[in-house]
Amino acid sequence: MDSDEFRVRGKEMVEYICSYLEDISKRRVTPSVEPGYLRKLIPAEAPQEPEEWESIMQDVDAKIMPGVTHWQHPRFHAYFPSGNSFPSILGDMLGDAIGCIGFSWAASPACTELETIVLDWLGKAIGLPDDFLAMRPASRGGGVIQTSASECVLVTMLAARAQALKRLKQQHPFVEEGVLLSKLMAYCSKEAHSCVEKAAMICFVKLRILEPDANSSLRGNTLQAAMEEDETMGLVPFFVSTTLGTTSCCSFDNLMEIGPICSKFPCVWLHVDGAYAGNAFICPELKPLLQGIEYADSFNTNPNKWLLVNFDCSTLWVRDRMRLTSALVVDPLYLQHGYSDTSIDYRHWGVPLSRRFRSLKLWFVMRSYGISGLQNYIRHHIKLAKQFELLVLNDRRFEVCNEVKLGLVCFRLKGKDKLNEKLLSSINGSGKLHMVPANVNEKYVIRFCAVAQNASSEDIEYAWKVITEYASELLEKDEC
Ligand code: PLP
Repeated sequence: MDSDEFRVRGKEMVEYICSYLEDISKRRVTPSVEPGYLRKLIPAEAPQEPEEWESIMQDVDAKIMPGVTHWQHPRFHAYFPSGNSFPSILGDMLGDAIGCIGFSWAASPACTELETIVLDWLGKAIGLPDDFLAMRPASRGGGVIQTSASECVLVTMLAARAQALKRLKQQHPFVEEGVLLSKLMAYCSKEAHSCVEKAAMICFVKLRILEPDANSSLRGNTLQAAMEEDETMGLVPFFVSTTLGTTSCCSFDNLMEIGPICSKFPCVWLHVDGAYAGNAFICPELKPLLQGIEYADSFNTNPNKWLLVNFDCSTLWVRDRMRLTSALVVDPLYLQHGYSDTSIDYRHWGVPLSRRFRSLKLWFVMRSYGISGLQNYIRHHIKLAKQFELLVLNDRRFEVCNEVKLGLVCFRLKGKDKLNEKLLSSINGSGKLHMVPANVNEKYVIRFCAVAQNASSEDIEYAWKVITEYASELLEKDEC
């Protein structure tokens, strides 16, 4: 394809994308296909000869779209959302065209510098302490874009592990590193995302999963008791991963209690995972939920969840970047350059070497909407969640199972888990809505995430109509 044809196909693609997104609500939210459906439709071998573009696009319509789950559908209420907006799509498009691999400052200076600047913009808008910002005199902190929140948790755990091992080696110079590693203990709540468990597996460290309180919040006394107990057993607490806005029910760990406890232990790294909820802190009225952040060593949030930015764009800030990079630096000659001492080389801030120009889309979004536009976006979704919560509360057959602070409502039919499993399965099977379950306080609940990009008040009403219709039908013939 040459640039003349690309001009034509590009315009056609923009048209295709606009029509897809404009008409998305006419589609089922989830596809009606069985595993392996595509194998029957696509040849087992790649074509030997070039094919016509029209034929490729015909197959997109005929073979791919029927198997797509439409995450941008206004009635997609599952998981947390996948961010999207036209400025973000355009940012990715330009980044793809520039096609640089910005692993060091020299590898593409604008790619590195824009990332540092927009991460400062966003960090300030969220209300992170100044220590987390890069563009201050003598700053030790800064932000970086990672692929996912899981990666943010992993790299901070790796950094904490390196720091703890260094300290232990100084104290016990003749003890083998493997033995020291076996002493390290990380902590998180039962409500933390499973990525913390995965990070501990990768890091070869022990993880103690703690019981939260009745509001699904990890409390200081629980953490302190566990850390003290472990210390008496000869173990070394080194990493605490807390969550602001948990996946199951959007609960908040108590940072104001946890922070001072971590400070009492030498060398404990406190990480705060705000993958979803962190975006909301750009609203002044929601900043109280961030209280205690001053104790944290690192913080992450995913603009690709709730800030109109496409996947991937997971933002991580650290208070001391040397502590992060010291765990990750390898420095072969072919990657060195003349400005290594005075510039940021993001290859030292994460696992991969190669990195895309992801800050472009974040920059496009922040400029196109302005902070006020982004705040209105978050507030609109919270209003929708409150609207849904009220609908549930007004129907005595149902109960709300979480404190609705942001865009997630956990609800269930009063009664057995089986009844709720059946309700969710029949609704999801219809393709009219999509929701997923969670376990909250040992009960099976249905998560209703009210934050699809274009969801409106009418979509919430529609969702409730569908839910109550299926519930009535189920209750009439209830054998559960
Ligand atoms: N942390 C929390 C609180 C989450 O809700 C999620 C995913 O929803 C993750 C981490 C993992 O996010 P990612 O898919 O970016 O790794």
